[in-house]
Amino acid sequence: MTARHLIPVIGFAAYSGTGKTTLIEALLPKLTEAGLRIGMLKHAHHNFDVDQPGKDSYRLRKAGASQMLISSRNRYALMTETPEEESEFHFLLSRFDQQKLDVILVEGCKNIAFPKIELHRDEVGKPWLYPSDDNIIAIAADSKVTDSELPQMDINDLDAITQFILNFVASNGKSCCDNVCDKQIDKPASSCCDILSPAFLSVTQGQEKILSLVNEVTEAESCPIEASYNRVLAIDVASPVNVPQYTNSAMDGFAIRGDDIVNDEAETPSYHVVAEVMAGHAYQGELQPGQAVKIMTGAPMPAGADTVIMREQAQTNGDHVTFPEAFIKRGQNVRQAGEDLAQGSDVFSKGTRIESAEMGMLASLGFGQAQVARQLKVGLFSTGDEVQAPGTEQKPNTIYDSNRFTIMGMLQKLGCEVIDYGILEDNEQVMIDAIEKASQQTDVIITSGGVSVGDADYVKLALDKLGQIDFWRINMRPGRPLAFGQVNDKPFFGLPGNPVAVMVSFINFVEPALRKMQGERNWQPLKVNAIATEDLRSRQGRTEYSRGVFQIDPAGRLTVHTTGKQGSGILRSMSEANCLIEISPAVDTVKVGESVTIIPLQGRI
Ligand code: AMP
Ligand code: MG
Repeated sequence: MTARHLIPVIGFAAYSGTGKTTLIEALLPKLTEAGLRIGMLKHAHHNFDVDQPGKDSYRLRKAGASQMLISSRNRYALMTETPEEESEFHFLLSRFDQQKLDVILVEGCKNIAFPKIELHRDEVGKPWLYPSDDNIIAIAADSKVTDSELPQMDINDLDAITQFILNFVASNGKSCCDNVCDKQIDKPASSCCDILSPAFLSVTQGQEKILSLVNEVTEAESCPIEASYNRVLAIDVASPVNVPQYTNSAMDGFAIRGDDIVNDEAETPSYHVVAEVMAGHAYQGELQPGQAVKIMTGAPMPAGADTVIMREQAQTNGDHVTFPEAFIKRGQNVRQAGEDLAQGSDVFSKGTRIESAEMGMLASLGFGQAQVARQLKVGLFSTGDEVQAPGTEQKPNTIYDSNRFTIMGMLQKLGCEVIDYGILEDNEQVMIDAIEKASQQTDVIITSGGVSVGDADYVKLALDKLGQIDFWRINMRPGRPLAFGQVNDKPFFGLPGNPVAVMVSFINFVEPALRKMQGERNWQPLKVNAIATEDLRSRQGRTEYSRGVFQIDPAGRLTVHTTGKQGSGILRSMSEANCLIEISPAVDTVKVGESVTIIPLQGRI
């Protein structure tokens, strides 16, 4: 989790040539005069350096200091090398001594989601940013726009911009409207507050919010080991037995007494082989001095014996054996009782998901049954008049339902019981009744479609009536709209309609929640870095999920490329992918050869 900043943060979004730095330079004296203590964060190109060749600090840094702090009477500077990857925005903000500041101004970081003032000059000849960037809370320009309700200021009116920032700081950066009452600012009748409302969330914020609102099921049940695959243990498991149960031979060979070992080339004693024991059997007597027992791997050690010599090192002669070249170490090739697991010791903790190895382990301890969390029942709906069930003849203007089936598959991967409620009719009351009924029969409800912002269709109206459901806009693509809430205390997920968006939203938000509800502990999605073999672009301030194919190239490097066209309706891209490529809001382009985060999908979809 990233540290959140304590003080307001506001940035300036503009194309180069707009005069961003000059403007900020002129604003700073006005802001400090008004009493603000200002921190500045500026994003620069990756080969930028504050240090200079020849300076002591430069030399020491180049000689290997990964952090270099240089100080004098008037200032200090800490330079930290980040060769692996660029530091995350919120981490950088946490480097400021925020106790000593009132606001952090940011220049650059145009692709990170936080409030910004768009700076625009017509003569620069660049497009406006506000139509595609929801983080813009005001415009300072040399012309007016008519298609936006954002507050507008004259880019040359420094006092108006200063006042806007003062108001923003005074309202603690939460709202851009409440305190904006200065005459110099054109404030439209309707407010811009919803841009910063909680309905606008980063992926991490959405995940955290959902996880904080869902609870583990408390009921447990007993289930036969053979049926326990993918279930989650409801109790801690201690070993009821010693593993191995008895001291036994780790080799096919000869068991002897440690006291008889000689290890002298001049003297190779001959042992009398008194018996042969197979696994599953035991030598009944006690081994006497000078005796050996021929023994198989896994067979119990005879009383008195504590050492085994491999068959390959033995020379037999009738009922006698010698070990001409073997150096013998007392206790070798013997597995002690309880060596792997002593009776009573911890094996698994509550919340462990049972997979193949766990099934085998439980069986190896003699358990016929496992105490597991009750299976989750998940109710599933598709919505939309255009959506038609497969297996029927295609009607005009329809598409076959795919979402119910991708979700079904992902639910099965998680070991959930799926209650398929089919396609919801576009009728408000029918919808309310169906979802309400589902909430009484299941633990979780999932729908797809009908939650887009601006979508005035029945799903939203119905969900609004059901109460306790919020419509979120997640800063990600695909999968921006998401409805989440409770119906009769049961978590409800209203996923988007587009087939790829459905899967990406499920992976990001539903899967972690279901795993928590199942009682699984310590789960984290696997994320690794791979080298991009094509340029990847991302959208402003959003987490971008492209469908990727990772592979090991001939040089042994993990590389990734996209599956091609990335439309959120192209389900085929998901089928061709073996990973999602995750481009964080901080990054706008990943160039060929740069490292990018991938989320392998094996085992998840
Ligand atoms: P919506 O958010 O309802 O406007 O849906 C967005 C897009 O996803 C539309 O093109 C829908 O036709 C499509 N869609 C919605 N539900 C499904 C579904 N169950 N299967 C396949 N596509 C769907
Ligand atoms: Mg729809």
